Amino acid sequence: MKIADYVTRVEPSPTMAITAKAKAMIRDGVDVIPMSAGEPDFDTPQHIKDAAITAIQDGFTKYTSPPSGIIELKEAICEAFRRDNGLEYGPDEVIVNVGAKHSIFLGLAALLDPGDEVIVPTPYWVTFTEQPKLVGAISVVVETRTENGLKMTPEEFRRAITPKTRMLILNSPSNPSGAVYSRPELEGLAAVAIDHGIVIIADEIYQKLVYDGVEHVSIASLSDEMKRQCIVVNGLSKTYAMTGWRVGFAGASREVIAAMDKVQSQTVSHTTSMSQKAAVAALTGPQESVETMRLEYDQRRKYVVRRLNDMEGIDCPMPQGAFYVYPDVSAHFGSKSPDGLSIESPAALCDYLLETGRVACVPGEGFGTKQHLRISYATSMEAIETALDRIEEALSGLIR
Ligand code: PMP
Repeated sequence: MKIADYVTRVEPSPTMAITAKAKAMIRDGVDVIPMSAGEPDFDTPQHIKDAAITAIQDGFTKYTSPPSGIIELKEAICEAFRRDNGLEYGPDEVIVNVGAKHSIFLGLAALLDPGDEVIVPTPYWVTFTEQPKLVGAISVVVETRTENGLKMTPEEFRRAITPKTRMLILNSPSNPSGAVYSRPELEGLAAVAIDHGIVIIADEIYQKLVYDGVEHVSIASLSDEMKRQCIVVNGLSKTYAMTGWRVGFAGASREVIAAMDKVQSQTVSHTTSMSQKAAVAALTGPQESVETMRLEYDQRRKYVVRRLNDMEGIDCPMPQGAFYVYPDVSAHFGSKSPDGLSIESPAALCDYLLETGRVACVPGEGFGTKQHLRISYATSMEAIETALDRIEEALSGLIR
């Protein structure tokens, strides 16, 4: 049967592909350490689980109304936007979705027509270039430079704009690089967006995971004008270790939220009822666990960066946010494995590290760069130590 052209053009997620390969090896009894997934290793805090259990026991197991989210959750989201980002939204300017990934899709579906262009700076989260294709739009990738910390400058943004440009997807803190845009950097990008009437989808899902006293700034908070042109996307997956619960949300103008609501209600209806109750508990309950997890990530981050930089041929900048490091490994290109395999790309190096070192990382090609690997430190310190020992040993086996 003929599969739709839009769907044929979409690439599968390389993150999920390598994670699946590592899991298959684990099932076959190989002791692989997965450093590839974008998922907290912590358990969901107990008070959040309890709220969902209570919801089930109270019979809160039917369709919820309205499809855009139960009112107590929308109010909690408005309060979170106010508290964390200085953004004022009313309940009809927010929507609850099935994960932040879904919020982004609904933003694209609500605003893009076939042929519209979406600017995506490198390195990008794998979904950003693929979702626009599902609505017939075109992703325009903008390469960023190492000397700018792999962040897009206003000039690079301006140069990529054409009469077809409708949108920019901006992710700070970034998956995969961990880069965090500063206020002046965001002001530069906001000025260009306002000048050209470009909508920004601001994916801020890692906003709580910033280190070294770095401030997370929401680009929508810079001015009322910018806020009107933004869809701010956030969610519970990373902050509260709730990936499987599937709760994301967005803030935008009433008109845009109504359009997103229309697409959501005609496709998935709404987020699972008990997950919505759990989300209320997460956003309004005690926040200590968020800081506990952040401090643990911070320790791991410093350790991973130090160990990697001690290895020959690895250049690993200190990331300011999220839970990934994104080292440049290109010094190893041109070498060979003991079995004669040529290492000429991040993908080849990742394969070698998986087969020989039994550590799963993600090659930079999936994020639009050709020199890097993404290593997630959202796993226990013990696993990290072993994984780094194995990477070190595997790299020392490469032949120049
Ligand atoms: N945005 C980014 C940048 C991410 O890394 C992820 C998760 N990998 C998401 C969105 C999706 O999160 P959710 O689980 O809320 O769909």
